[in-house]
Amino acid sequence: MDREVVELFSEPGKGKGVRARAAGRGIRQGSLIFAEDAYIFTLDLEESKRRCHFCLQKKTVPLVCYGCKYARYCSEKCQEHDQQHHMMECDVINLISGLASNLKMVVAALCKMHHLAVERGQLSSISNLMSHVDDIKRQRAGGLAAMMSTLHTTLKFHLDYLIDQESLEKIIGKVMCNSFAILDDDHQQIGTALYAQASMINHSCTPNCVPVFIGSRIEIRAARVILPGEEDAKMECLKCPRCSRQIPKTSALQLLACSCGYKLTSGDFLTDMEDIKNFAENLVNSRKSYANEPEHFLYLLERCLQLQQEVFHDDNVTFVSVLERALDVCVEMEEWQNALEYAERLERILRVYLQNDIGLGLLYKTKGVIQLQLGRTADAKQSLLTAKRLLTVTHGWRHDLVQHIRNVLTDLEPDDETTLDHENDFSNL
Ligand SMILES: [Zn+2]
Ligand SMILES: [Zn+2]
Ligand SMILES: [Zn+2]
Ligand SMILES: [Zn+2]
Repeated sequence: MDREVVELFSEPGKGKGVRARAAGRGIRQGSLIFAEDAYIFTLDLEESKRRCHFCLQKKTVPLVCYGCKYARYCSEKCQEHDQQHHMMECDVINLISGLASNLKMVVAALCKMHHLAVERGQLSSISNLMSHVDDIKRQRAGGLAAMMSTLHTTLKFHLDYLIDQESLEKIIGKVMCNSFAILDDDHQQIGTALYAQASMINHSCTPNCVPVFIGSRIEIRAARVILPGEEDAKMECLKCPRCSRQIPKTSALQLLACSCGYKLTSGDFLTDMEDIKNFAENLVNSRKSYANEPEHFLYLLERCLQLQQEVFHDDNVTFVSVLERALDVCVEMEEWQNALEYAERLERILRVYLQNDIGLGLLYKTKGVIQLQLGRTADAKQSLLTAKRLLTVTHGWRHDLVQHIRNVLTDLEPDDETTLDHENDFSNL
């Protein structure tokens, strides 16, 4: 992990996570954020028969461990490299090979703790990981009890590996909440792994970084531009913010942004046009992913606008679409003052470039609605009149949209002649 670029954090109310340093330069799309060896890992049963237990490559595995007759290797080199790790598990690996992967992982952790003589209950390098034992007890107490009992049965001749119930539950929790599926190059799961640092990255529907596995080693790269100060914002373990389902961690990862408000200054960040354009386009299309957190989405849009302003002209189509999206979100959140500011920014741009466009007509309609909400009736009337004038040109005065605006105007001031005069409304702005 490059501490210049990313940092681990733990803050009250936010929990723990990984983030791009606020004072850093941000992270370019595709750059390697960090790489890390697994703290523990296991291979799925079928895969364990046809893959080298060190490099995890699917090839002939002629070398077999004399002790367990279970661990196989493609070469002496791989066997040698795995020796230190394998000797911790050699005497129990046959007992656990058929167990569910969570249980295999727990036993692997117990073996590691035992052999490293780590203080009981203190997992040193994975002590940072959340275990969410209370949630697990609430949601699947039966499952937890079954796991405990299987562990005791499986390890009945290895009682020295077992630890007190509370510590054991914590390890089960850590394994359940933080494990990665190890994927091969075809993105098929071949095993499971736990990492001291990578496991602190949380699930997201719109991940900003992606994992790739080299053997059991994980490499994490930025899937898109990551802003300085961006971090993971939620600590619900593996619970999808959109669909609330439990999701395999590797299907989505993130170093998510938070709303702590780090402000970008000129020259602070990437000025690569293509990167910024991609970032903006992805963001505009990810409204659904942020359905439950509009404030956060708005924050990202605003940051995106700041970035774009440094490299694009105002009338850039991507810039305009981000601005439009920000306006939509404000209206949806009924943040009228904020919405009005976005509407006015858009108005200044669109008025110059799109004199009779539908977009401009609709913008004035929205602006009128916002002004009504703010109690600025006279301003609202002006906006709605302009909207009516523009949309009458583009849609014809009989159109529902135009009729609707006419009705609103009539309600505002029933006696006002100008609102009724539709036939002569074709003048320009
Ligand atoms: Zn190998
Ligand atoms: Zn062995
Ligand atoms: Zn999701
Ligand atoms: Zn932050």
